[in-house]
Amino acid sequence: MIGNFPVERFRNIPTPFYFYDTELLQQTLEEINCQSQDEQFHVHYALKACSNPLVLDIIQKAGIGADCVSGGEIKAALEAHIPANKIVYAGIGKTDEEIHFALDADIFCFNVESLPELEIINEIARSKNKIANIAIRVNPHVDAHTHHYITTGLEENKFGIDHTLLSDALNIAIQMNNINIIGLHFHIGSQITDMSAFQDLCVRINDLQDEIEAQGLHLQHINVGGGLGINYEHPNHFPIADFEGYFKVFRKNLKLRPHQQLHFELGRSIVGPCGSLITKVLYIKKGINKQFAIVDAGMNNLIRPALYGAYHRIENLTSEKPYQLYDIVGPICESADTFIKDYKIHEAQRGDLLAIRSTGAYGEVMASNYNLRNTLKAYTSEFINQLTE
Ligand SMILES: *Cc1c(COP(=O)(O)O)cnc(C)c1O
Repeated sequence: MIGNFPVERFRNIPTPFYFYDTELLQQTLEEINCQSQDEQFHVHYALKACSNPLVLDIIQKAGIGADCVSGGEIKAALEAHIPANKIVYAGIGKTDEEIHFALDADIFCFNVESLPELEIINEIARSKNKIANIAIRVNPHVDAHTHHYITTGLEENKFGIDHTLLSDALNIAIQMNNINIIGLHFHIGSQITDMSAFQDLCVRINDLQDEIEAQGLHLQHINVGGGLGINYEHPNHFPIADFEGYFKVFRKNLKLRPHQQLHFELGRSIVGPCGSLITKVLYIKKGINKQFAIVDAGMNNLIRPALYGAYHRIENLTSEKPYQLYDIVGPICESADTFIKDYKIHEAQRGDLLAIRSTGAYGEVMASNYNLRNTLKAYTSEFINQLTE
């Protein structure tokens, strides 16, 4: 066993596969529950980060709600026994079928991203004789200082309603008979490690709340979305995100009104560190100026490096020889199928097992069948520890 990896047991399992360290997940959930004990705080898990049923089961047992972005995710949350009254539903392109499904399930709240969407929810709710609880997603113009692909809170993008148009939107929503406005929703981006971005968000929300109250409106809840980042560089030293600092920012800076509830939607920070993609070295190819470690996992299993240029720490679990530099690449017929270039790992040979770390979030869920490579498997540490060696 190296670190938390049961390497000997890995040898009996066909690669590649995702490995979820359930002990770390439990510890993470305990830390979240410990740091968010305030009566008004409600944490939802953003299923889009990882919707593996084994992972959802553990999260559900910690009493955490769900943040969904499709009917399929609502279904997965319900199947994992997350209560409907803890489910929020966002997304700019909700289909009629999804809206019907969410209303039938009596979810807690729709996070609404545009006025045309609001009209359709109102219409469908009327047809079912129901009232839809909604929060309006506001684009607060807060710079999350993160990758431009995953920043969402800046000017003119497809998410949410511009904060300068909020009061008009609220006036329209109030007129709708089958809509009950219960909150405001924000989400400024992902992999945010600079807490000042969340401070900026608090300041913006405080201003907006003052404006809304001047309009005579009082809202039951504020939802600040997700986005807390994790340490991709040092997963062994910092396996749990800074939940203490994160919740403290809101406790300190956000002026909640009496009885107002505060909702969070965390994805990456809950599951990211607990996942690793385990892959086998197929060939070491020596080039002119470099050498390539060709592995059996590809961009179809983990697309983040190809899509965002994302960094994942990679470790050779089965070698202690001196370090060497490699381009670590997958088998897919695309040059983008490269996990990392000029990267130091213990000297590798055919058959070695590598762990691509911190891939619990936006890993397995984004996997595809490209090149018709084998369907990807995923195992929990609990499961693997039960296997006989
Ligand atoms: C993706 C998303 C989240 C989760 O983001 P993380 O960065 O994984 O915490 C939360 N809320 C909404 C609306 C999202 O789209």
